[in-house]
Amino acid sequence: MKLGDLQLSPRHLINGRWEIGTTTGISTNPSDTREVVAEYARADRNQTELAVRAAADALPTWSQSTPQRRADVLDMIGSELLARKDELGALLAREEGKTLPEGIAEVARSGQIFKFFAGEALRIQGELLASVRQGVQVDVTREPVGVVGIIAPWNFPFAIPAWKIAPALAYGNTVVFKPAELVPACGWALAEIISRSGLPAGAFNLVMGSGREVGQTLVDHPLVNALSFTGSVSTGDRILRAASARRAKVQLEMGGKNPLIVLADADLDQAVDCALQGSYFSTGQRCTASSRLIVEAEVHDAFVARLRNRLASLKVGHALERGTEMGPVVDDNQLAQNLDYIDIARNEGAEHVWGGERLERPTPGHYMSPALFLARPEHRVAREEIFGPVACVLRADDYEHALALANDTPFGLCAGICTTSLKRAMHFKRHAAVGMTMVNLPTAGVDFHVPFGGRKESSYGAREQGRYAAEFYTTVKTGYMLA
Ligand code: NAD
Repeated sequence: MKLGDLQLSPRHLINGRWEIGTTTGISTNPSDTREVVAEYARADRNQTELAVRAAADALPTWSQSTPQRRADVLDMIGSELLARKDELGALLAREEGKTLPEGIAEVARSGQIFKFFAGEALRIQGELLASVRQGVQVDVTREPVGVVGIIAPWNFPFAIPAWKIAPALAYGNTVVFKPAELVPACGWALAEIISRSGLPAGAFNLVMGSGREVGQTLVDHPLVNALSFTGSVSTGDRILRAASARRAKVQLEMGGKNPLIVLADADLDQAVDCALQGSYFSTGQRCTASSRLIVEAEVHDAFVARLRNRLASLKVGHALERGTEMGPVVDDNQLAQNLDYIDIARNEGAEHVWGGERLERPTPGHYMSPALFLARPEHRVAREEIFGPVACVLRADDYEHALALANDTPFGLCAGICTTSLKRAMHFKRHAAVGMTMVNLPTAGVDFHVPFGGRKESSYGAREQGRYAAEFYTTVKTGYMLA
């Protein structure tokens, strides 16, 4: 039997031992809610504190370990993820509801992330500078920050933990990892691989449970030196206030309301492909999803007609079924929120083009059809992050108008443009007020070896991923020596 088929009983990993929880919780399959995926241990404050202490106790050993040892550990984790991508991808599809190909691709990417940081562990660099004083030598070196609390969302249950845990360990930090409550089995499966990678006991700990209890304990604990969080803006704000009050280092990745501009000179089929992938794949549950499609008036109607046709034939179904293009929504709450936004859009006068209905499938799940509206910039459907398969089209008079609409948002994660004009593309890359730009590509779908993150309300603190991850997971020390 493979993990992808089993009902699992995940436990916490604290100080190298698997521990039962103070209570248990369940996660279910959003494609078939009759199926329990995991009955998992839930920690309370005390258990979370034990994990933090274990990480603090392991810090002297792991922070002094050789780069070779760290590289070996991370490489082993990466190799196992890659070797088991089909099995673990099926588990991900069962617990989160991504389609099987999307689940497999995410696990493979997680493996590549660990391998990338295995290499980075061998490339930790410093600087040697001439002093302004005669006979003095100055060096700048990087050291681990300490104990890192990692708080993850449910929508990328392997990749987001991977892109936080791998650099944390590569740079010599120890970790307490809290996965989201909807995806404990994925968090546990990753932790189980990490537990066999040769780390000292306590260097990596897993605690599952609620944000209010487990998450908040990590945020408030004086032994947690740094917090890396991905999730909603409201939770991020709360974490920032609490953690900065005790001067912990904080990194937040939060929401998005990402625009995709389609200019009249664009290859329209390519633009429709970008919109379809960016807005609806992974059921729109991506912080980089393009939920505002800003289309130049000249091609507006043709674009909408083509996208509508593609939506009409998009196959929504069980995440593990061959041919499914869009899986279910992750849970009942998220589905209810998506459907509320459909009502809000209609009530505010947005023109309904397609979808937004609850769907019945052979198995009971949280299915809905992909939704498209024609909206005005002031409509809530065009301003607020929905985190579901709901997009709107905004009509733009010309490129300048489109750019102004694109930047008219409190968010600033990612922005895309479809155009054949190099001049416009270059201008857009420079003037989009975001952390990531895309030209003739969907807004969602990024590389793992370059920085990820945004501006404004989307992100706070140092960037994640690539070699820029060192900014968050290390602290610099300046050394002076009389030569
Ligand atoms: P969420 O904020 O509800 O939860 C995220 C994590 O924080 C969970 O593990 C949760 O248990 C924990 N948490 C909740 N309250 C806490 C508290 N008081 N203290 C500490 N931890 C607490 O978000 P979610 O519903 O899991 O994820 C959806 C959101 O994540 C969306 O808004 C989406 O845009 C965002 N997201 C952002 C990125 C990005 O990189 N920018 C990536 C994926 C998802």
